[in-house]
Amino acid sequence: MPELPEVEIAARNLRRWAEGRRIARVSTDPRAARIFRPGDRASFARALSGSTLVGVDRRGKHLLVTLSDRRGRPVGLWSHLGMTGKWVLREGSGAEPPHARVRLELDDGRVLLYLDPRLFGRQRVVPGADFAALPEVAALGPDPVHDGIDPARLGERLRATRRAVKVALLDQAVLAGVGNIHASESLFAARIDPRRRGGGLTVAEVRGLCRAISASLRRGIEMQDGPEIAYVEEPGAPNPFRVYARAGERCPRCRKAEIRRIVQAQRSTFFCPACQETGAGRRA
Ligand SMILES: [Zn+2]
Repeated sequence: MPELPEVEIAARNLRRWAEGRRIARVSTDPRAARIFRPGDRASFARALSGSTLVGVDRRGKHLLVTLSDRRGRPVGLWSHLGMTGKWVLREGSGAEPPHARVRLELDDGRVLLYLDPRLFGRQRVVPGADFAALPEVAALGPDPVHDGIDPARLGERLRATRRAVKVALLDQAVLAGVGNIHASESLFAARIDPRRRGGGLTVAEVRGLCRAISASLRRGIEMQDGPEIAYVEEPGAPNPFRVYARAGERCPRCRKAEIRRIVQAQRSTFFCPACQETGAGRRA
């Protein structure tokens, strides 16, 4: 699933491929109507065809693409990759990959394709490119890469919640862009049991967690850098992570226990029951 690193690479790729280019033609997959809600396919195509891509920003897991329409007015594209979405570039000729939901033909003949097998992604036109008006964007907390992570603020947010620290980290209002993979990996690196109540962490543990999150996201960006993002859940994809999706394997650090998978707030968590500090009696 896409988290901050994959979306950061998507933003860089879209910039590299299409900044300054005009979108000559737009087509969409009729089976993918749901990704355009609350708009529809026709208005999506109408708004973007003939526009020029001006810039691409990222906020958490959200891609914010600014274009200039035929009359030179700003128009935005909010693109969220959902669970399986990705943007790829193809030369104009050749077979189209499966699950292409949006096809943006550029004025140089190359084609931007949005692929999304499971259709949990979203593509929405934002009038005036006023992204701050979208509730999904307005609700986001600090972006760990753009803003850094302030241990004092994170500690405050964690103390204000009764949720388990792993669950709190998935809250995009706490930190924008951390998902299941990097929450599990960071808590492992910081040796913190994911079941502990967020408010029960010591100041030193919060500091360690901030460092671990930054390192995990930075490493993710380095690993994914390239024209084709791969998701660990895809068949045959390598698993570069230490605990994520490794239930039953021996812990790579202490070698004393097997990595466990538990479910927290309907999401899988992976951790080592032997070397992640339980902070006795302070579980959520
Ligand atoms: Zn261990």
